[in-house]
Amino acid sequence: MKRINADNMVKFYALMLLYERNHHGYELIKSIGEKMEKNVSPGQIYPFLKKLKAGGMIAGGKEGPRERTVYRLTPAGRKFVKETLIRLSEMIRIAVRKDISVCHHCGCEVYSGGYREKGKVFCCKSCASACGR
Ligand SMILES: [Zn+2]
Repeated sequence: MKRINADNMVKFYALMLLYERNHHGYELIKSIGEKMEKNVSPGQIYPFLKKLKAGGMIAGGKEGPRERTVYRLTPAGRKFVKETLIRLSEMIRIAVRKDISVCHHCGCEVYSGGYREKGKVFCCKSCASACGR
């Protein structure tokens, strides 16, 4: 099977939207356009959907009074999106690592907020007071 890459934001959003629920092509184009605040052309979506379909990642069936093709992720497709998400979250984790503080008391990672006392970072007030005792 040919490897499928979600190598741009349009593709990535398409996968996210399909992970959320089934969509037809036009709906995807519209939703992605709204999310990205720019016009997305059918040429950015349909070849990708075709590729996903050929790779067994999505299935399409005609639905509704207008007989539009509604796409849904197959189990393999869901697995692919999940793995893509995990890879992406690892990348984000690496990128934000320098911004993560470690609680001076319990050692847990503090992503945002936290509690500062006497120049030390704690995850919460009780860790700070436990450390001060
Ligand atoms: Zn703590």
